[in-house]
Amino acid sequence: MSLLPDLLTVRPGTLAEAVSALGQSGAQALGGGTDLLPNLRRGLGLPSALVDLTALPGLDGIAVAADGTLRIGALATLQAIATDAAVRGGWPALAAAASLVAGPTHRVAATLGGNLCQDTRCVFYNQSEWWRSGNGYCLKYMGDKCHVVVKSDRCYATYHGDVAPALMVMDAQLEIAGTGGTRRLPVAQLFQEDGAKRLTLAAGEMLVAVHVPPSGAWRAQYTKVRIREAVDFPLAGVAAALHREGDRIVGLRLAITGTNSAPLMVPLDALQGAAWDDAAATQLVQAVRKTCNVLATTIASVKYRRRVLLAVARQVVDDLWRAA
Ligand SMILES: Cc1cc2nc3c(=O)[nH]c(=O)nc-3n(C[C@H](O)[C@H](O)[C@H](O)COP(=O)(O)OP(=O)(O)OC[C@H]3O[C@@H](n4cnc5c(N)ncnc54)[C@H](O)[C@@H]3O)c2cc1C
Ligand code: SF4
Repeated sequence: MSLLPDLLTVRPGTLAEAVSALGQSGAQALGGGTDLLPNLRRGLGLPSALVDLTALPGLDGIAVAADGTLRIGALATLQAIATDAAVRGGWPALAAAASLVAGPTHRVAATLGGNLCQDTRCVFYNQSEWWRSGNGYCLKYMGDKCHVVVKSDRCYATYHGDVAPALMVMDAQLEIAGTGGTRRLPVAQLFQEDGAKRLTLAAGEMLVAVHVPPSGAWRAQYTKVRIREAVDFPLAGVAAALHREGDRIVGLRLAITGTNSAPLMVPLDALQGAAWDDAAATQLVQAVRKTCNVLATTIASVKYRRRVLLAVARQVVDDLWRAA
């Protein structure tokens, strides 16, 4: 890997300064740097300025409000989230998802905001400059064609974040700051299915916090499958939340990651009010199959990733049903 190019870095001390700096053409936010800096060292992008958010006061807090809502600042590290007593007690699947990201040395630096906003990945993209120049640049960066879906005019690079699907099934909302003030957005709406334009944030906008409602009668679980258990992106990941009453599903939400250019909610309307039995499990697996779009963007085979995804989706709901 080569050295980082010379980059202008600014380190704002207030939110207003941060959004103003991010509003400059080509500027990019820097959290823990565990995703962005390796990419920049590979020549993947050349921001006009890096806006280092880590000096912003009060954005790393984790607190439960009087109404039971959990608020986690965008600069909270994944290690802090994974070990926080309130998160582990009230939202254990969120703590688990954070604890499963990368390895321990990443998690002490990696931030929640950076985890959600991480770049999409592809075997033709996450390569050194000399590899990409030798094999041909692609349309995600510097080139004009896709090597995965050859006749496509969009990028299919895959989103591999672990925390987003857990937040999505918990119905969490983002707090976003921009030059016009702050706004709220459901986590799922941060993403769009385009590997080259993965986020819906406008220029100058940044994540400030995540708000997670109390779990109430819902139980959630996040399970990922990866090649190296000690440090790896999910080759498929499934989060689910279940509200069970007796032999009936009162509510079931399921989100997938590692398969598409965005983490996606799987539509499960037909299962609301049903019993969890073989017929329901078959319907769930069909819905997951319809939603996922596994392509040759990783070194693991497409067939293997799809089969693992479908098996894990059923297993997660089986586990939740038994535990509820
Ligand atoms: C070997 C290795 C293994 C990894 N394994 C995993 C894994 O298993 N699961 C996983 O999810 N990730 C994994 N990652 C990716 C990465 O380490 C994590 O996603 C990490 O949480 C990123 O957080 P960060 O603060 O370091 O982000 P950064 O690298 O600082 O930023 C990532 C992106 O988010 C943007 N950004 C940062 N903060 C904000 C904000 N507040 N508002 C708006 N945009 C923002 C940046 O501009 C950049 O585009 C891995 C990385 C490596 C190198
Ligand atoms: S999916 Fe296609 S365009 Fe996107 S990174 Fe891979 S090769 Fe490039």
